[in-house]
Amino acid sequence: MLSHIRTYKRKIKQVIFETEKYGFFRLLIVLNGLSFSKLLVYVLKRNRNVYKNVDYKYIVESQSEFTSVVMPFSEKIKKLQNEYLKANGYIMKKKMDIGLCEVCNKTSIFNIDEIEDKEGNVNWRETLRCGYCGLNNRERMMWKKIVDLQIKREARVYVSERLTPFYLYLKHIFPQCIGSEYFPNICNGERNNAGILNEDIMNLSFEDELFDLVICRDVLEHVHDYRKALSEMCRVLKNDGILVVSVPLKLESYNDEVRTIYENGIRRYVMEPEIHGNPIDCGGSLVYTIPGWEMIDYMKYLFKTINCEFVFSIEKGYFADSKGIPQYFLVARK
Ligand SMILES: [Zn+2]
Repeated sequence: MLSHIRTYKRKIKQVIFETEKYGFFRLLIVLNGLSFSKLLVYVLKRNRNVYKNVDYKYIVESQSEFTSVVMPFSEKIKKLQNEYLKANGYIMKKKMDIGLCEVCNKTSIFNIDEIEDKEGNVNWRETLRCGYCGLNNRERMMWKKIVDLQIKREARVYVSERLTPFYLYLKHIFPQCIGSEYFPNICNGERNNAGILNEDIMNLSFEDELFDLVICRDVLEHVHDYRKALSEMCRVLKNDGILVVSVPLKLESYNDEVRTIYENGIRRYVMEPEIHGNPIDCGGSLVYTIPGWEMIDYMKYLFKTINCEFVFSIEKGYFADSKGIPQYFLVARK
């Protein structure tokens, strides 16, 4: 009896906490068992269903294909997305949205972090974080792709991150998955005190043709020679192995935007230093290059096929940027 009362008290405390932390609507969704919250989810889902068939996927291999295939739809996508955002203004103001998470395979809250892109708009690429799995727009989208590749569970997988939820999910579906971080003060291929493997992706310690799948997320812009990094990742892949990469591209340009040059151990800033967040370094990571389409052309020397996949879906929370260009990632086969 006493324990029942304690549990009850704890539950009430939790409810009060949730209400303060997340607001009333969110509380209703958190308590999914309540019929009223079910009704709310139903209404919101119905609202979304208008956009149910608005799923776009474009696969291109070059800048000219991007210009002729993706660009013509950007105005339409921008209009649709703005229409949706306007129709759901109230919910959006609560810094949340509801959609189908393809990682969790259920309707979920997508939290909207207050991050902005260069033009001061919401940076949709890095937000819409699922309330269950914690993965954002770009991460959920890549995750879905990796699952769709139907690579066997025993596959050897390397991912250039170790201290992220994304790594833990990968480890779950590929038990042999190896993840690493970059610690400049530790020898390459060795582990730090916490047992975390150190790898410099421009000089991987692995033997040739070891992996079936290599995943590299938002790292290439932070290395001073991305060509070296790509050829290293290609080297450690088996023949027919797959590389999945995400990197912010300068889509309107063929040439790379070189922001920092590294020569003889010295950094030279060509443009104003740009820093991105880094989970293991609160000082962030310096950007060396924002690659243009010349990076994709370089990859054609290394890989048999290279696809740049653009995905847009309001229902699944894959939102486009402020210009109506969907989010994207690269898939290459050796
Ligand atoms: Zn999820």
